[in-house]
Amino acid sequence: MATLKAVRGTRDLLPPETELWNRIEAIARRVFARYHFGEIRTPIFEDTGLFARGVGEETDIVSKEMYTWEDRARAQSEKSQSLTLRPENTAGVVRAYIEHKLGETGQLQKLYYIGPQFRRERPQKGRYRQFWQIGAEVIGPPSAGSESPLRDAEVLEMLATLLDELHIEGWTLELNSVGSSADRERYNNVLRTALVEVAPKMCADCQRRAVTNPLRVLDCKVHEDQPFIEALPKIGDALDQASKDHFAAVTAALDAAGVPYKLNPRLVRGLDYYTRTTFEFTHGGLGAQNALLGGGRYDGLSEAIGGPKAPGIGFAIGLDRLVLTLQGQPKIALDTICVETPCHAYIAPLGEGQNAAALALARELRKSDLRIEIGDGSFRLKKSFEIANKLAWRIVILGEDEAKSGILTVKDFLSGVQAKVPRAELSAYLQKPADGVST
Ligand code: AMP
Repeated sequence: MATLKAVRGTRDLLPPETELWNRIEAIARRVFARYHFGEIRTPIFEDTGLFARGVGEETDIVSKEMYTWEDRARAQSEKSQSLTLRPENTAGVVRAYIEHKLGETGQLQKLYYIGPQFRRERPQKGRYRQFWQIGAEVIGPPSAGSESPLRDAEVLEMLATLLDELHIEGWTLELNSVGSSADRERYNNVLRTALVEVAPKMCADCQRRAVTNPLRVLDCKVHEDQPFIEALPKIGDALDQASKDHFAAVTAALDAAGVPYKLNPRLVRGLDYYTRTTFEFTHGGLGAQNALLGGGRYDGLSEAIGGPKAPGIGFAIGLDRLVLTLQGQPKIALDTICVETPCHAYIAPLGEGQNAAALALARELRKSDLRIEIGDGSFRLKKSFEIANKLAWRIVILGEDEAKSGILTVKDFLSGVQAKVPRAELSAYLQKPADGVST
């Protein structure tokens, strides 16, 4: 029988790598809390219509990459429904914002999420069909200040802080403004006209986009098309005064906070609902898939999916790519956020008769928050020492004598010191740093 494997584009995450994922997530949660964000968890599948309307029918995501199926009705009271595994989380967050009438609180909502997303893309390094995102959204009624350029700058400054706290070195913040929807419409028309002449010389995708969604032409990565794209009119020239002022206020706040950025007039991002500020943080170590994270403002999204006016700004970090970046960095940086932590002690029962007592002792010690591994009484002492030496700072020997006397033999691997420790004092003894390490 053929062996079953994880589906193409998906993969298992195993320890100790999962430890690194957990550390990154913990640091992100800590940073978000400092900026007054709360966590939101939305369903992994949603009505297909949410993404068609909220991401845009013309986007690659919706037109080619979604995992969609028809969920058949199980009872007469149910209707069959087209469902989709979420390809991104912003649409789900905004749907929840509308559904729970969060706008009626009059407050700005600052929400973050961590979870898997699904896109049927061509898998390669840094690009998977199930991948993880850490993202956040700031959304609310205009009266709560949700349109303020200060919010854009705060989100960008928070991201710079997060990447610094993760010890990611060498990131670049690329920044642009795609203006209001009126600016974009104007620019799309300018582009469409400019493309009439050049599109026939470009790739098949660009020829299609030149008609359906000219803005998307700027996303093209085909090498031969780049000179044509460079020569196209720039979106910055099509912005009205209000959009220009908004963008100027974002960059002024970033300058004041000392967050470096690079203007990239071609950065329009793949999703239709973006307005004004768009951004990406890139990293040279990632190769072709160099975007660590992306985001932007989406002032019209809530209305596009049937909600009230609720401008917002958000981002999504590719967690898989964050991990790849950290793994590609010098070990020192990695160690500061992730050291594989050995157990405080390994309990070696001498003889199978001591197995039950070993479990009881481990239970007692784990209650004091110590990391404990237990051996097995069938192991010879030499084997126990070999295993213990690899995964713990100390070994605790539990034989018949120890069980009777209540005095345990503990050996510290680093110093080589062997001590007799009364059971009542064992937890405190193991809490003390073993020689040269801090617990
Ligand atoms: P997007 O939702 O397309 O704006 O993407 C935001 C971030 O998610 C990107 O910058 C990537 O880091 C990450 N990302 C997007 N698609 C994938 C994928 N197929 N595999 C891994 N990471 C991805």
